[in-house]
Amino acid sequence: MKRYSAFAIAREALRHHTGWERAWASPEPRKRYKVIIVGAGGHGLATAYYLGKNHGITDVAVIEKGWLGGGNTGRNTTIIRSNYLQDPSAAIYEKSRDLYEGLSQDLNYNIMFSPRGVIMLAQTEHEVRGYRRTAHANALQGVTTEFISPERVKELVPIINLDGPRYPVLGGLWQARAGTARHDAVAWGYARACSAMGMHIIQQCEVTGVRSEGGRVTGVETTKGEIGCDSLGIVVAGHSGVLAEMAGFRLPIESVALQALVSEPIKPCMDVVVMANTVHGYMSQSDKGEMVIGGGADGYNNYTQRGSFHHIEETVRALVETFPMISRLKMLRQWGGIVDMTGDRSPIISKTPLGGCYINCGWGTGGFKAIPGSGWAMAEMMAKGAPGALCAEFGMDRFREGRFIDESGAAGVAH
Ligand SMILES: Cc1cc2nc3c(=O)[nH]c(=O)nc-3n(C[C@H](O)[C@H](O)[C@H](O)COP(=O)(O)OP(=O)(O)OC[C@H]3O[C@@H](n4cnc5c(N)ncnc54)[C@H](O)[C@@H]3O)c2cc1C
Repeated sequence: MKRYSAFAIAREALRHHTGWERAWASPEPRKRYKVIIVGAGGHGLATAYYLGKNHGITDVAVIEKGWLGGGNTGRNTTIIRSNYLQDPSAAIYEKSRDLYEGLSQDLNYNIMFSPRGVIMLAQTEHEVRGYRRTAHANALQGVTTEFISPERVKELVPIINLDGPRYPVLGGLWQARAGTARHDAVAWGYARACSAMGMHIIQQCEVTGVRSEGGRVTGVETTKGEIGCDSLGIVVAGHSGVLAEMAGFRLPIESVALQALVSEPIKPCMDVVVMANTVHGYMSQSDKGEMVIGGGADGYNNYTQRGSFHHIEETVRALVETFPMISRLKMLRQWGGIVDMTGDRSPIISKTPLGGCYINCGWGTGGFKAIPGSGWAMAEMMAKGAPGALCAEFGMDRFREGRFIDESGAAGVAH
């Protein structure tokens, strides 16, 4: 694989851009691989990448039923932060945020990481207490956050209305090194790096069954035939329950549609990300100038990638209270993704009852920010056959044993 560089751009400019290679190969599947990952979203691709980079395992196929990054990875609002309450969460989200900072250099692919800062608004006394508590917990965890005053919020976000009709802004939890990245580029960057290591990314190939013998996985059935493997990683977000059923176990996961929308592009007016949990909505401005707006999750299980219409109205109503200027904007696009929700709003990175089969899911409304850390942890577990320190607490047994990692506060707004 040729490296991308300023020199390469200059060289290709002289050659009328005829020398660029395809970013990744599209091979036909082989009969067998050491490792198969189902799902070419960010988490699946990152798992494959760190299997190769950290553990030297490159006999890997990533199997995707659609196109890579076409699931939630290409549908999210790209917020990256690590201001979670519980220690295991802060550890994996901070590892991830830290990896994001150097990811463009690591992958030799510009993922447009923008550490512009994230504010979570406190609009009730309860939220003020909750976010102060999170800021104290973050200080102990080595995650840099602070609780800021309404005046400081206004300084950072001049377009905000502090005295909303229902809930005034009483302060905010501010993480200055949080931010956003280009979602497609994260998937494309990992895919290119995996392909360069000789891994196979097989798109338009649906896994329809899991094969096993003597309690151990032996391969998968797909729309392109049977493919054998020694270990299997299931990383399919909203379809985790479907794949788990194929592998013969059940998951404490509900799949619901979560949606987002973008406005027409406008001049730069907000250079941080603002989340308003109480009125329920959040917003940032993309590099193109569109206001990127996150909405709510449907209140019932479904597999549509669209979401209910009433959420658009609720979300926009909430944001008009917080940012009155958006009432004059036209909305351009709306879409949805199928998110995988656990009861404690924390992920599952776990061995499963089927030998050699591992699962990574339950990131729900907030897994984009976790892609590098999650891939790192999942790869370590698959390479060593046991969870490492980063994901030890996220086993699926915690739901049976009552060891919940309750992040319903930190993950309260869909993001
Ligand atoms: C509207 C919206 C906004 C969001 N905003 C944020 C945010 O701001 N910040 C944040 O951190 N997170 C956010 N999220 C959550 C985040 O997008 C997800 O947690 C994350 O992208 C999940 O990545 P993934 O790789 O696990 O799943 P996906 O990207 O969904 O990848 C799973 C892949 O598995 C494939 N697949 C499924 N079944 C099969 C099969 N049988 N065979 C083969 N392939 C299969 C799918 O086609 C899909 O491509 C948001 C999500 C949505 C929907």
